[in-house]
Amino acid sequence: MPFELPKLSYAPDALQPYISKQTIDFHYGKHHQAYVNNLNNLIPGTRFEQATLDQIIKEADGGIFNNGAQIWNHTFYFESFSPAGPREPSGQLATAIANSFGSFGNFKEQFTKSSVTLFGSGWAWLVRKPDGSLEIVQEPNAGNPLRNGMVPILTCDVWEHAYYLDYQNRRPDYLQAFWNILDWEIISKRF
Ligand code: MN
Repeated sequence: MPFELPKLSYAPDALQPYISKQTIDFHYGKHHQAYVNNLNNLIPGTRFEQATLDQIIKEADGGIFNNGAQIWNHTFYFESFSPAGPREPSGQLATAIANSFGSFGNFKEQFTKSSVTLFGSGWAWLVRKPDGSLEIVQEPNAGNPLRNGMVPILTCDVWEHAYYLDYQNRRPDYLQAFWNILDWEIISKRF
C-alpha cells in the first residue's frame, strides 16, 4: 500500500495572512507530495516496503529515512494549524509548559529562539522526554526526535521553503506569524 499525501483539514487560503495560499500550494502541494512520491519510489524491494513511517524514522537511513521522516514531519506540522483554534494551551499541557519553562510566554520565547537560530534547514521541536518533562530540541534536515525515544508535541519547519515566498529571508517574521495559526486543542492532545 503506497503512502499517500494526507488531506488538509482547512482550505489552502485559510491561514492567510500568516501563511499564504501560494505557500500552501508549494509547501504542501509540491514539497510534501514530493517526499511521498520519493519514498514510494525508494521502498520497493527493501525491508521497508511494508513499514510504517515510525519504523522508518527509527530504523532507516539515507533517502528512505530522509523522505519518510519528511512525510511524518510535514503531516505533523500541517495538522498543528487551524484558522480559528485556541492560541494558547490548556489543561495538562499548559501545566507542563509552566513547570518546564516558567510560563507560556517564556516557552514561546525559547521555542522562537531555537527556531530562528537553527543553522540551515531543519525543525525545532517541543518534545516530551521519557521522564515526562518537556524540552525544546533542534533537529537538522529531516531529523525527528522519535528516533531518540522522545514524544513530539509541536514542531516548526524552518527550511526556507516553509517561509521564503511569504517572508523571504525573514525567518523571525515567519516565527511571529506561526503563533497565530497554531491550534492548541490539537496540540494538547499529543501530550
Ligand atoms: Mn517543509
